[in-house]
Amino acid sequence: MGPVRVLELYSGIGGMHQALTESCISAEVAAAVDVNTVANEVYKHNFPSTPLWAKTIEGITLAELNRLSFDMILMSPPCQPFTRIGLQGDVSDPRTNSFLYILDILPRLQRLPKYILLENVKGFETSSARDKLVETLKKCGFKYQEFLLSPTCILENFPDQEPKASVKHRVAAGLEKESSFMPPKEEYIDPNSGSDCGSGQCSQKEAFVFKLETAKEMEKKRNQDSDLSIQMLKDFLEEDGEEMSQYFLPPKALLRYAFLLDIVTPSCRRSTCFTKGYGHYVEGTGSVLQTAEDVQLESVFKSIEMLSEEEKLMKLSTLKLRYFTPREIANLHGFSPEFGFPDKITMKQRYRLLGNSLNVHVVAKLISLLTR
Ligand code: SAH
Repeated sequence: MGPVRVLELYSGIGGMHQALTESCISAEVAAAVDVNTVANEVYKHNFPSTPLWAKTIEGITLAELNRLSFDMILMSPPCQPFTRIGLQGDVSDPRTNSFLYILDILPRLQRLPKYILLENVKGFETSSARDKLVETLKKCGFKYQEFLLSPTCILENFPDQEPKASVKHRVAAGLEKESSFMPPKEEYIDPNSGSDCGSGQCSQKEAFVFKLETAKEMEKKRNQDSDLSIQMLKDFLEEDGEEMSQYFLPPKALLRYAFLLDIVTPSCRRSTCFTKGYGHYVEGTGSVLQTAEDVQLESVFKSIEMLSEEEKLMKLSTLKLRYFTPREIANLHGFSPEFGFPDKITMKQRYRLLGNSLNVHVVAKLISLLTR
């Protein structure tokens, strides 16, 4: 028996390919498919010998798929139709069409793949796209398992039950908590959300201690940071150097968004999820790093409202806040050190692509589980 032939759909920058490599199973990507030209540049840069089909999934014919003759499908369909901040258009969102096309074509393949792995965001598990997937899988005789996973819990609590039925085809649907390092966007406290909080006086929610955070939220973060089984952020950081200056938050962003930022230090063991607007839209897209570790966040934010803009800025600047670099986010996502971007890919594009990608370690474990 030769290596497992893999069809990587919605390949992006190749998070699935990375995970396949990490899983150590004998496999080769027979074809990767994505329509995004920037993502494809990055994919080619990192996996030059993999056939990359730069086309839409709906544009692939049944005959082409039959000819490819693959044993495994790895796929990350677009998640926007299922995210909380998206419109939750589900199957009525045109971005779901290609996925529906795959479901339609699957039962008509000359030879069904042995394995399918699908990764998506929290929210997918309650969608009708998911129901249609399950329906199709059952029809084709697959056995399936679904997981709601977070990269920080995977070490200890990875579900490790053997599938009971002896069905040939198996699916592991990895539903990640938005594919990053720690809790998703609900960690963010939006001062404008909840009509009862309009005046800044919360009648139902708890009072803010400082920086729009309640005692409960702060306690949660403290607990996460004291979980010694989780690596500190410093293990994922790049060396300080001259190039680092470009990542520091500009004064305007500091003044405008200081209260909304999720601020972490190198010794933290948590962060919010890095999404595709990171480094560009400040709000709710991922944590920022406080590089002045000896400065107390409390002391900076205490009574800061009373100060003039200039004084505010002075105080906030003492924290030396910067964005995580694309390399650091790649590290947090579990990408190998060899993984890189072609020079011409801009910073904004890098953040965007990484924000669309996945956690390699989590998916590698799912691939092992699927094939063992
Ligand atoms: N797992 C990937 C990212 C998946 S994001 C990674 O590791 O980078 C979803 C990807 O699907 C995007 O790259 C997007 O360009 C691609 N995509 C969306 N609709 C598509 C379609 N109809 N045909 C082909 N690719 C599509």
